[in-house]
Amino acid sequence: MEIEEDEERRRQRKLEEALEVKSLRRIISAYLNYPEAAEEDVRRYEKSFKKLPPAHKAFEPPLDMSQDVDGCKDPHLENFEHGHCHSEERNASSCQSVSTSGRMCCSNHAQACSQEKSNIMSNPTTELQEVKSEQQHEPIFGSGAGEVENKNEIAECCSNDVADSNGNAFSSPHDWLDPSLQLNVPLVDVDKVRCIIRNIVRDWAAEGEKERNQCYKPILEELDAQFPNRSKESPPACLVPGAGLGRLALEISCLGFISQGNEFSYYMMICSSFILNHTETTGQWTIYPWIHSNCNSLSDNDQLRPVLIPDIHPASAGITEGFSMCGGDFVEVYNDSSQIGVWDAVVTCFFIDTAHNIIEYIEIISRILKEGGLVGWQVWINFGPLLYHFADMYGQEDDMSIELSLEDVKKIAFHYGFKLEKEQTIETTYTTNPRSMMQNHYHAAFWTMRKKRTTTT
Ligand code: SAH
Repeated sequence: MEIEEDEERRRQRKLEEALEVKSLRRIISAYLNYPEAAEEDVRRYEKSFKKLPPAHKAFEPPLDMSQDVDGCKDPHLENFEHGHCHSEERNASSCQSVSTSGRMCCSNHAQACSQEKSNIMSNPTTELQEVKSEQQHEPIFGSGAGEVENKNEIAECCSNDVADSNGNAFSSPHDWLDPSLQLNVPLVDVDKVRCIIRNIVRDWAAEGEKERNQCYKPILEELDAQFPNRSKESPPACLVPGAGLGRLALEISCLGFISQGNEFSYYMMICSSFILNHTETTGQWTIYPWIHSNCNSLSDNDQLRPVLIPDIHPASAGITEGFSMCGGDFVEVYNDSSQIGVWDAVVTCFFIDTAHNIIEYIEIISRILKEGGLVGWQVWINFGPLLYHFADMYGQEDDMSIELSLEDVKKIAFHYGFKLEKEQTIETTYTTNPRSMMQNHYHAAFWTMRKKRTTTT
């Protein structure tokens, strides 16, 4: 009987791993397909250009359009092969027409590449192992040893005995680079890679500083003020669910916290791992984040401008020991009993509206905060709008989306033991091209809530 159960569990695990591999494979394909997708766009532009009546071709285009379409190699794409890449604001006008709710495919943070929700650790035991193993890490970046560890980590997710849904086994991490993976990448996946590149600007470029000052700075100042006498020997622990590309979590670490970012998107994790673990100097890479959108440009130069990344060298930024990024669904990872009362602070930035059920998020945030610590601790700092990610999804039967007003979100938080300490509205953009003629602004809610003591000591 027991053997049967074990067998069943083993089969279940294998299935989950296979799904995991499938999902990761698709995402890697999307990354690999980036240059090809860009060339496809260029071919479309050229087709349109060819249709122009001769008289309308008489101006001087920025690029030599006389070359054979198939034979021509975009000089920007060449860069990609040397590790440079470009990005997008995918066809802004078509995005606009998709939705009436103001959701732009790329400016919508909640959709920021999260739909592919990786099955990364859909099994709770694996999740916790992952949390642990992340915590055991040498600082996530840092030495060359860290790099190796990180490669192992990816290899762990897709270890050798794993087979994909077709039963094909993967023998080595190099299999991921198989060119056949670049074929048949759906456009939505390509879009997600382009979104990631905009997120890189937000988190890791000098051009993103204005946005970071709007969003991250108030949070960091508030954390600093909430933990005035924090100890270097025993730093407070701060969790950042929905950490995106990791800059906020890193800044929190540099402020003197044991900081953990949590993120469930492989798109994000692959990219943040690259920046955190594999960059060697400031400005090491050149990207062209705005090149994919021909809309709302003031000039060709604006569209073609390069952006250097990263603006700081993560390994030299002065992190506090214990910094980690934990892959997995916030609900699945932190709803575990081992997480109860573990964190001194939880920081959510553009995160709470990614929930199917925001009440569940709030309940978990309350549960995982420590109880009965020093005055000034157990805080939840939140920054962001309520652009509910699943609001417009009429997908599968079991999909749900609970869309509460700000007023109701606060009521729920009070129900779960929070007291509102500070509240403010801050205007901000999200992954916006600062030189675009179109700028979406959020009036983000910014609050500090404290978990009330439930027991008297
Ligand atoms: N905090 C970052 C990213 C905000 S976008 C910033 O301000 O730039 C929201 C992020 O939450 C996305 O990266 C998305 O992948 C992630 N996310 C959404 N649902 C999640 C979940 N259930 N668990 C973990 N991460 C999640």
